Amino acid sequence: MSKCDLCTKRRAEVYLKYAGLKLCPECFIQFFRRRIQKIIEEYKMFKKNEKIGVAISGGKDSSSLLHTLKNIYPKQEFTAFHINLGITGYSDHCEEKARELARQLDVELVIYNLKNREGYTIEDFERTKYSRKMCSTCGVIKRHVMNVMACEANVDVLATGHNLDDTVETMFSTFISGDFKQLIRLKPVLPSIHPKLKKKVKPLIKIPEVENLLYASYNNLPIRRVNCRYSESARSIRRKRLINKISDSDQKFKYQLLSVFLKKLIPMVEKEKEKVKLVECKLCGYPSLREICSKCVRTQVLLGT
Ligand code: SF4
Ligand code: ZN
Repeated sequence: MSKCDLCTKRRAEVYLKYAGLKLCPECFIQFFRRRIQKIIEEYKMFKKNEKIGVAISGGKDSSSLLHTLKNIYPKQEFTAFHINLGITGYSDHCEEKARELARQLDVELVIYNLKNREGYTIEDFERTKYSRKMCSTCGVIKRHVMNVMACEANVDVLATGHNLDDTVETMFSTFISGDFKQLIRLKPVLPSIHPKLKKKVKPLIKIPEVENLLYASYNNLPIRRVNCRYSESARSIRRKRLINKISDSDQKFKYQLLSVFLKKLIPMVEKEKEKVKLVECKLCGYPSLREICSKCVRTQVLLGT
């Protein structure tokens, strides 16, 4: 590759087709951080004096997010949250990476061990009727626990590492399932609509996952090297592959979908949301659309097995 389009001195290593830019690693890192800062400012994700919780999984996206946030806002107060899901051969490795990252960045880390705190692991769902929906069950549990952690640590905002590919894949899946109410969860900013529901933000919403991987590797971040054994059967991964195939011949495809989502779908779903009333789950006390929240519906099944 030729010289970097920005510094015009160093050798370019990264080609961002959608931006028509060839960049050297140093300029890519700066470009990546500037984009995230722009997203944070555009959506007013947080203010200077707020305490920010960052969900870190040990993967490339959330690790790049925390690293970037610490670099853009060195004076901001951050707390990292990690959930040990109790998945053999995976969760302890992820926890190790999360610990290493927090140590390197000198960020306070809170770990929620599902087995110790709740008495079960994600693996336990294998013997329930949710065994064929391990990832969606895991998603429900993780969302609930992250919100609990954010409430317990009393942060103002919870930032997660959802990237462009995650958002587009979930949009795609929502069209197939027809469960359009779920689209609301994809918004770049979810304000707090209940005292026990923290504000959530997604600073990576416009960043493709391949760029998070590049950022993590150029900065030598400690990220997990093993995959969760449930991921191979995950429908989301198959759908991401399909979307990537379309994107190979149409570089702007994902951005076009995201733009339709942000400009057209969100306002439609917002109107529907006004009709939604939150109650407190009878079992855990956290906000829910029904008497028993989705997380408790699932854990009740575990107790019955
Ligand atoms: Fe959970 Fe599925 Fe991710 Fe494994 S692959 S950690 S089960 S969401
Ligand atoms: Zn509940």
